Amino acid sequence: MTKRIVLLGYPLRHSISSAFQQAALDFYHLDIRYEAREREPAQLRSAVEELRSPDYLGANITIPHKESALRLVDDADETSMGVGAVNTIVCRSGRLGGCNTDVEGFLQALRLEGGFEPGGKRALLLGAGGAARAVAYALVKSGAASLMVANRTVERATALLAAMEKVAAAGGVRTEMVAVPWEKRERRKLLEGCHLIVNCTSMGMRHSPEEARSPLEEAAIPHDAFVYDLVYNPAETPLLRAAMRAGARTLGGLAMLVHQGARAFELWTGREAPLGVMFAAARRALAERGV
Ligand code: NAP
Repeated sequence: MTKRIVLLGYPLRHSISSAFQQAALDFYHLDIRYEAREREPAQLRSAVEELRSPDYLGANITIPHKESALRLVDDADETSMGVGAVNTIVCRSGRLGGCNTDVEGFLQALRLEGGFEPGGKRALLLGAGGAARAVAYALVKSGAASLMVANRTVERATALLAAMEKVAAAGGVRTEMVAVPWEKRERRKLLEGCHLIVNCTSMGMRHSPEEARSPLEEAAIPHDAFVYDLVYNPAETPLLRAAMRAGARTLGGLAMLVHQGARAFELWTGREAPLGVMFAAARRALAERGV
């Protein structure tokens, strides 16, 4: 009988997860279908409950459901508890395990594709939404020396760091943390001495109102920084272009997307993720969508 893995989110028309997950499943000739299912918040509970049927191996959870899904699984792992969000569900004998592979996806991409080790480094995160929580958790767990979070709504940055202080204390980690408002006149000062800058806002994302805008101007970006934009469509965002002009090293968001998917694939199937196949399918899917 064909097994199923589903992606639950709303809206899903721009998602490319189905393309690279199905390519990985087909690589191993597995009788498994990966299906994107748009579900609004009011429909999430029943969509998650349906996963208890033996037809399902698991699910990916995306915007806007990652935080709500944490409350709907039976067993949330340490990472998803620490982040406060679930992006992957693994079904085993009717029980639902909640995981967060965004954390590992972010770190694998940074280390393997970017060649950057965050331990002992000073990092600045732009944004304090769901993606920023996974990135902050990853950096604290990796022993980053300091973590600054700049957000338009500074209260959200403060709340994020309060949660991360607990993660650091529980793990005996010493990461200096500070929340800052995102005001233009402060930017150059904030960025001095930063080794890693991660854009966790949606600025620069195709089809968004801020599509053409970079969260940082070229003059503010230190030439020796590593600039990581979580936005993956387009591949070359306004921020990455500004960073390249400033002489900084850069990494786009596609690597994180594929690596978080690769980890999820391994959890569902127990097989090594065919990364090359997944990257190729992801790039093809983006090209077909007119990047
Ligand atoms: P989210 O929870 O909605 O958070 C959005 C963040 O962007 C908030 O901090 C928000 O600030 C900020 N923001 C939005 N518009 C802004 C503007 N005009 N000026 C300044 N700040 C602005 O979204 P998310 O889930 O964290 O996702 C953020 C981005 O990461 C998206 O582009 C998403 O596609 C990307 N992402 C990529 C991956 C990957 O695998 N590559 C994974 C997850 C997410 P306020 O708090 O002030 O509203």
